[in-house]
Parts: sequence; structure tokens; C-alpha cells
Amino acid sequence: QAKAEGRSRYVLFSSSMDEAVRTRETMERELRQALADPDAQLRLYYQPVFSLRTGEMTGVEALLRWQHPESGLIAPGAFICAAEESGLIEVLGDWVLRRAVRDARAWPDLRIAVNVSPIQLRNRKFAGSVRAILTEAGFAPGRLEIEITETALMAASSEVAGSLKELRALGIACALDDFGTGYSSLSHIRDIAVDRVKIDRSFVQAVNTPSGAALVEAIVGLASANGLHLTAEGVEDNEQYAFLSKVGCDEVQGYLLARPMPAAQITVMLEEGASFRPPLSDGDLPET
Ligand code: C2E
Ligand code: MG
Ligand code: MG
Ligand code: MG
Repeated sequence: QAKAEGRSRYVLFSSSMDEAVRTRETMERELRQALADPDAQLRLYYQPVFSLRTGEMTGVEALLRWQHPESGLIAPGAFICAAEESGLIEVLGDWVLRRAVRDARAWPDLRIAVNVSPIQLRNRKFAGSVRAILTEAGFAPGRLEIEITETALMAASSEVAGSLKELRALGIACALDDFGTGYSSLSHIRDIAVDRVKIDRSFVQAVNTPSGAALVEAIVGLASANGLHLTAEGVEDNEQYAFLSKVGCDEVQGYLLARPMPAAQITVMLEEGASFRPPLSDGDLPET
């Protein structure tokens, strides 16, 4: 009985494992092929970030896409993990940074945020290679911001901490991405060596509930008390925007304002004098 059960469980397990391994292997192989000529299949999209105070576009976040020959445009959530597990993330990350600073030459007034994997930061040579890429491109380090997720930072090794320190010494800013999802205590903010906190979309989505609103307000307060810049991610509607504006958040990013787009479209937006003005709500109507 036990043996039969064990066997059937094994069969089930092994066939699903097989499938997972096969997909992963295929993806790794195709990713490797893509990286042999990265400009052919990899795309860097940019999502504008706006100041809540002035309504102006202050920066962009670079977001990777893979234009797969058969599957079409693939979002990073579907392949970053495979890139990390196969060791391809470092080559991929170098391409992202090079592409981003090259594209960003057309936008001298914007800050450029680039997401990095903790695996890249674990390499002691990371900060040095970033510096080399910036020097080669003639790109001012003060315009670059590196984003690292809260979960990654919490699991951080001394190598990761060392890289962050070196990056900041070079004048590169560091942002804590997806803040709130890592379950670190809020007061932890002040111990973290970063320049900016990005409130995760799930918190922004919850500001229409009393507890969600209180939480976001507490994060805004803590960030400002600790001299940190603050961006809210995933802002999708006017109510969220109005709330963030009311509680004094610095910057906003989300589909309400602009979706991620190819570099050429950012240039067009800037030429058109990109700024964001929310529609007036009743409370904002000018007095006459
Ligand atoms: P992230 O850094 O937190 O980026 C924000 C994600 O939210 C992006 O998804 C963006 O398209 C999406 N987003 C922005 N505004 C809204 C909104 O209003 N509503 C909703 N529902 N979503 C919104 P994307 O581009 O699929 O990227 C997912 C994640 O993949 C990123 O999350 C980041 O962690 C990672 N990633 C992206 N590019 C890179 C890269 O070049 N290197 C590494 N290591 N990771 C990357
Ligand atoms: Mg990010
Ligand atoms: Mg995020
Ligand atoms: Mg995220």
C-alpha cells in the first residue's frame, strides 16, 4: 500500500519536474542565444516618474523586455529568475546598464533608475564595472539610481552591503524597491543605507481602506523624518494620486501617469513638455 502510494507520488512528481526542467532549459538556451546579439531581442522600456509637487517628469525607470522570436514580448517576471539561476544575469545586467545610459543621453535632465539583481551586487567587482560603464559613456553617476528589492536587501550579505557602499561613494543613488513586501519593520527604514524608498504597488492599491491609508501615511512620515526620497509605484487612479499628494509623497509612478514605453516615446514626451496634471476634483476647484 505504502509502496504503491509512494510510487504514484513519485511518478507525478517526476513528470512535473521533467516539464519544469525542460522549460527552464529551453528558456536558458534561448536566453543565451538572445544574449549573443542582445540588441536583436532585448528591449529596454522606460516608465516615467513624476514629481507630485511640480507635476514634472523627473526620471524614468528602465524595465527589461524580451522580444522573443516566437512568443512575442515577454515581461521580466517570466525570465529574470531563469537568468539568475543560470548565471546569465550578470551579462544581462551589463547590457541593461549600457543600453540605459546610452538611451539616457537624449534626456539630460532625467534621473535613470535601473533594477539590479542581488546576484549582481554580490559580485565584489560590481561597483567597479558600473563605474567603467559610466565612464565609457560619459554619464554622470549622480543621474543613476540603482534599485534593489527589499527582500533582496534583507537577505543581504556583506558583499551586497559592500557594493551598495561603493556605489554610493561613487555618487550613484540607491533605492529600496517594492518597499513593504519584505516584512521588515517600518522603523527598519532608518538603518538601511539607501537614498530612496519605493512604496510597493500593493500598498498604493490599499489607500482606499483606513488601515492602508494609515500605513502609507506612516511610511511617508518615516521616510521624510529620515531624509529619504519617496516614490509611490503602481498609481492607477485619481483617488490614489490625490491621497499621495495630500500626505506629501515626493514622486509617483504608475499607469495613471504613464506606462513603460520605448526610448523614442520618452523623447517625444519630453519634446511635448511632459508634465502630469490630475483632473481637478471638486475640492481643488479654484475659488472665484
Ligand atoms: P519593479 O522594479 O517593481 O517595476 C515595476 C513594475 O510594475 C513593472 O513591471 C511595471 O511595468 C509595473 N507597473 C508600473 N506601473 C504600474 C501600475 O500602475 N499598475 C500595475 N499593475 N503595474 C505597474 P515589469 O516591467 O513587468 O517588471 C517587473 C519586475 O521585474 C520589476 O519590478 C523588477 O523587479 C524586475 N525587472 C525589470 N527590469 C529588470 C532588469 O533590467 N533587471 C532586473 N534584475 N530586474 C528587472
Ligand atoms: Mg524597480
Ligand atoms: Mg517595485
Ligand atoms: Mg516589483
